[in-house]
Amino acid sequence: MNCRDVVRHLHEYLDGELPGAKVEQIDAHLHQCEHCQRFLASYRKTIQLFRRTLDHDLSPEASRHLWQILERKLEH
Ligand SMILES: [Zn+2]
Repeated sequence: MNCRDVVRHLHEYLDGELPGAKVEQIDAHLHQCEHCQRFLASYRKTIQLFRRTLDHDLSPEASRHLWQILERKLEH
């Protein structure tokens, strides 16, 4: 599992939609990869910010949109 794989699955990882084996692989990678730890932290922070701003849970569309923004940011 490399950084791109982690990022690709992070959304489902946070939503608890991944099978246990995949979660373990991501956990193992996160444990030893500072880059992905930072990405995860900024992703969580951004979601919190969005929620505070909107004052309710993100709709699936908004969540997808947010995810696309973050993925694009990571590619730079
Ligand atoms: Zn990584």
